[in-house]
Amino acid sequence: QKTQELAALDKAHFIHPTSPIKQQQEHGPSFIFTEGKGVYLKDTNGNKVIDGMSSLWNVNAGHGRKELAEAASEQMKTLAFTSSFSTFSNEPAIRLAAKIADLSPGELSAVFFTSGGSEANDTAYKLARHYWILKGKPEKKKIISRNNSYHGVAMGATSATGLKPFRDFTNSLAPDFYFANSQSAASFRHLVEQEGPETIAAFIAEPIQGAGGVHPAPENYFKEIRQICDEYGILFIADEVITGFGRTGTMFGMEQEGAEPDMMCFAKGVTSGYAPLGGVVLSKKMHNDFKKLSDGVLLHGYTYSGHPMSCAVALENIEIIEKEGLQENAAIRGKELTQGFKAVQARRNTIGEVRGKGLMVGLEIVKDQGSQEKFPTKQAPFLIAEAAKRGLICRSVVFGEQDALVFAPPLCITKEEVEKVIEIMEDCIVALEEQVLK
Ligand code: PLP
Repeated sequence: QKTQELAALDKAHFIHPTSPIKQQQEHGPSFIFTEGKGVYLKDTNGNKVIDGMSSLWNVNAGHGRKELAEAASEQMKTLAFTSSFSTFSNEPAIRLAAKIADLSPGELSAVFFTSGGSEANDTAYKLARHYWILKGKPEKKKIISRNNSYHGVAMGATSATGLKPFRDFTNSLAPDFYFANSQSAASFRHLVEQEGPETIAAFIAEPIQGAGGVHPAPENYFKEIRQICDEYGILFIADEVITGFGRTGTMFGMEQEGAEPDMMCFAKGVTSGYAPLGGVVLSKKMHNDFKKLSDGVLLHGYTYSGHPMSCAVALENIEIIEKEGLQENAAIRGKELTQGFKAVQARRNTIGEVRGKGLMVGLEIVKDQGSQEKFPTKQAPFLIAEAAKRGLICRSVVFGEQDALVFAPPLCITKEEVEKVIEIMEDCIVALEEQVLK
């Protein structure tokens, strides 16, 4: 009864982000969630499913954490909001900036807050360009990102997104964005030399491409990128929106790549999704240069930059991640998940590559393992529907050529829950082979 009423209202009034709008109109929502606990979500029909995607790669600490609700409630009762514009400040934002500076790799040490990841990336592009204006090199304005990347949906973030359907969604993009091949640093060098290093402000990359299908970078890729950036005076931005706060088995993904960025963007896992928050961490050098060279106003900021409630939630969330060793758990459980999928791969012909790091895992679907031949039409949507029936939510890569599933469960997942995910997926693969490919 309630489900039907809500579904009708949903169809009539709720435009869902990144959704198949026509299909949504016909079928309505697949789940209307009502509560969550650990890796599980429950819906209006009483179905209990494993949130194999941490919702949107972000519920790192898992669902139903009372401590986070309490941190939000306490802060809202004492000071729900105040601006951090200009010279105003507040304690949660100050303490969180210091905490993130402390956790961030190397020389990264000063934080600019936003409300989410797209804003964090747009902020990084603007700060990079402003930096070069202050340095007397205003012609350095081009931003290079990578094919197959995802950086969000604000105008700059979309313009930097390498997944072409996102750019084609609109018919006019921000200028001065360019793309290098994601598989080789030589492609970046070639593009820099072709465009002229004196015109390039920054390079941005995800340590592991997420929405593009979970693609780790080739070995030594980021070391070479760092060298090229140093050689040509280009700022290196790491987009750690997914990989930050424990997801890949270390606090930040770049820690495993042997390269230190000049700016690092974060969002999602910083609050485990319990409150909207994002930001950019700047290197000490950049921060000092800004302080030294700028005698005007830093004309960039959002109403919710440094939101006290979001920052209070983030502080509590980071404490949970550290106290419970969730990044170590991500490394251990991530290995189990990958090895489990590899065992299924050995038993079944339709699993191609199994790839990823920590609890960020991609599973490729192929017609034939030997030749890596793909199906003429994608099979991932069938597998997702089958998984949902069996109590697991995962996601497919719906862009471009790939036929793959991605998994990113909460970092608190247990060994038994990992085994359940693997078991469900094997059943789904069997169903694919027996029902669709027979
Ligand atoms: N960057 C990366 C790597 C992402 O995966 C995302 C979102 O999925 C974003 C940026 C955009 O973040 P938001 O959706 O919070 O704006």
